[in-house]
Amino acid sequence: MKKITIAIDGFSSTGKSTLAKQLAKELEYVYVDTGAMYRAVAYFAMQHNLIGVDFFEKEALIASLPKIQLEFKFNSDLGFAEMYLNSENVEKQIRTIEVSNFVSTVAAVSEVRSKLVEQQQEMGKNKGIVMDGRDIGTVVFPDAELKIFMTASAETRAQRRFDELQQKGNNVTYEEVLKNVVDRDHMDTHREDSPLVIADDAIEIDNSYLNKEEQFAAVLELINDVVKNA
Ligand code: C5P
Repeated sequence: MKKITIAIDGFSSTGKSTLAKQLAKELEYVYVDTGAMYRAVAYFAMQHNLIGVDFFEKEALIASLPKIQLEFKFNSDLGFAEMYLNSENVEKQIRTIEVSNFVSTVAAVSEVRSKLVEQQQEMGKNKGIVMDGRDIGTVVFPDAELKIFMTASAETRAQRRFDELQQKGNNVTYEEVLKNVVDRDHMDTHREDSPLVIADDAIEIDNSYLNKEEQFAAVLELINDVVKNA
């Protein structure tokens, strides 16, 4: 079967990664969570005191970029790849609310974006890839054969992220998570470089009222159509 590139973009906590993982497993494609890469850079900035509640040492972060090495390593027990920052597994550290609060500031820096986009394009050069993020269909793979744009109400998304964080033992309130979701939406859609926009040829899926199985089945059908006509 012909391998294609699948770009999944959308707002935070719309279930992009759940869908992308399901698709990669079914199609035996590589899955890349680009949000994890931006989160790892934000985590690096936090560790090195380059970002905090009232400061951001943007130029120092830019100067440090050559020292940031990002890598995905497949974990066969979990069935997906985990994020490594300078050889350290940071999967757990990058999912905290603290990193979520800083990541969009870091992701707005053009130098950060061009480094990560280059690495993402390299990972997808042989197709057979499902990549999720904010700019995959618009910037990273504008020629992707299938582009999906996922949305859901901010409240639905905050509730999902809140449940997830609670399950992992993170001590947060629903209000804190909702604020983070709304703030990130605003920053991601208003930044100058590669703002979150829906690509002209993307198919929009609002999954506020769709369950995972219905969504998966609908997207598989889309993929079959695309592959047939490719
Ligand atoms: O997907 P996730 O919510 O983990 O992404 C975290 C943040 O990383 C987003 O809010 C956004 O600021 C940034 N991001 C981005 N471009 C991508 C993926 C993520 O700017 N392709």
